[in-house]
Amino acid sequence: MDADIKKGHFIESIITEDINNNKNQGKVVTRFPPEPNGYLHIGHAKSICLNFNMAGKFNGRCNLRFDDSNPTKEKQVYIDSIKSTVNWLGFDYGTPLFASDYFDRLHDFAVQLIKKGKAYVCSLTADDIREYRGTLTEPGKNSPYRDRSVQENLDLFGRMKAGEFGEGEHTLRAKIDMTSPNINLRDPIIYRVKKASHPRTGDQWCIYPMYDFTHCLSDALEGITHSLCSLEFQDHRPLYDWILDELETPCHPQQIEFARMNITFTVLSKRKLQRLVEENHVQGWDDPRLPTLEGMKRRGYTPSAIRQFCDIIGVSKKDSRIDMGLLESCLRDDLNETAPRVMGVLKPLKVTIENYPQDRTEELVAKNHPQKQEMGTRTITFSREIYVEQDDFMEAPPKKFFRLGPGREVRLRYAYLVTCKQVIKDPDGKVTELICTYDPATKGGNAPDGRKVKGTIHWVNAADAIDARVNLYDRLFKDENPEQNKQDFIENLNPDSLETLASCKLEKSLGEAAPETVYQFERLGYFCLDSAHQGSTDILGDHPVFNRTVTLRDAWAKLKKK
Ligand code: ATP
Ligand code: MG
Repeated sequence: MDADIKKGHFIESIITEDINNNKNQGKVVTRFPPEPNGYLHIGHAKSICLNFNMAGKFNGRCNLRFDDSNPTKEKQVYIDSIKSTVNWLGFDYGTPLFASDYFDRLHDFAVQLIKKGKAYVCSLTADDIREYRGTLTEPGKNSPYRDRSVQENLDLFGRMKAGEFGEGEHTLRAKIDMTSPNINLRDPIIYRVKKASHPRTGDQWCIYPMYDFTHCLSDALEGITHSLCSLEFQDHRPLYDWILDELETPCHPQQIEFARMNITFTVLSKRKLQRLVEENHVQGWDDPRLPTLEGMKRRGYTPSAIRQFCDIIGVSKKDSRIDMGLLESCLRDDLNETAPRVMGVLKPLKVTIENYPQDRTEELVAKNHPQKQEMGTRTITFSREIYVEQDDFMEAPPKKFFRLGPGREVRLRYAYLVTCKQVIKDPDGKVTELICTYDPATKGGNAPDGRKVKGTIHWVNAADAIDARVNLYDRLFKDENPEQNKQDFIENLNPDSLETLASCKLEKSLGEAAPETVYQFERLGYFCLDSAHQGSTDILGDHPVFNRTVTLRDAWAKLKKK
């Protein structure tokens, strides 16, 4: 196989060939065209990366264009969120563009079609239009209004625009072929009456162009060369081309389809995500369990991990479902390089070091990254009372348990070797405190006599630790394909997708954490401050809330192997 072709994906090959043939004078202009009727999700990231990367690679331009021709579903909050999300992902689109800015020109194009005898005002009801359309196996029938004169059509369309008719009374339809095997070509509606206020044009219009009419013409008006869209638009391509062939437009962009992204254990459709939010299965559009980019951002996903993921999965013509583990491993790889290390205890167990002076506090130096010296060091404090993780103690530990147990010695990260002398329990037999001794000669963690201590555990100083709540997130769905096996995907929700730990103790430096700065809590995973609770003191008292971004290892991969 030709090495060059193997390297890039099929869209890259098409564009390369076009440039070699000097098509579009060698220019490349792409666009990302969201409808502002919801928040972006990781599937959109694939389209964003593809469009911006193709433009970037071939010295072209990529527009961010809002496909905002359906005012009833579109909102300014979505527009704002989409703009900032695309920026957050790391792409520069200059000035955002809006299909609604072309409403005048789209209207003129519709008039042109009428004048050519290629569009007519149809007065069938919605039900009748459906009835006349036929099915996949049966051809449609011509509308009785199909042969209205140009003059009559112009008059009626003008009156539609003037607001003389109610919704559904008349539509403007392209006159193509009611017997076409492609249902999209059976005289599709291109304009309808909609008495709705538009987020940008207000009440200026009461007729709005349909998606198929709007999209190809907006592409053409912007000089788009390659209009990349997902596979479900394949059957719309003949209509895309028909409209551009019939009208005099600045150019005729080439529509190329690619497979949508699907990921295991989640759903990627605005409609389904909306149900999760509206039925309160999650706590909003930016719930850290959702695959919305706002949710992922709040969870601690980095733009570079998302871009890397989109790069790795590539672009193809075949639908597939990508392992969520791959997305998480891209994130781990990124965070392992960049996340500062800190210590935090999620389920605290108090330890008193009985031979450590009561009034003493020591400052110890801790590395912010084990390999990266340039990330520097910080000071942590040590004193007589500390917290360790409950899981790091066992009363009757097996031999291979290298952490704390009665009489056992362990290394406290950056501090000393300590030995467990006594276990204190409450009346129910629950361990509430450990009494330990420390060896003053082992500062930094090494014994001068060379004795071997295998285990190292994390801890925090009780005197200055901050109290925090920590949200542990897991897969939102139990099933790899939530849409399968159950009547309703909601039944596949994982009831344990969120566990909140209410009394965590974190090292003092985390009091200054900013949202979106992800830390590695040593031995536990990656965590970041929850932006929604930043600075809030109401429901949670003064306690900050941290989100677990991702675990250190993939627990699900292990489960699968079993
Ligand atoms: P949804 O089905 O989630 O509502 P959509 O396709 O209706 O998504 P748009 O706002 O129309 O959402 O999408 C903007 C662009 O993003 C389109 O070009 C669309 O093809 C692309 N896109 C949407 N979802 C995915 C996905 N899962 N994988 C790849 N591209 C996607
Ligand atoms: Mg859509």
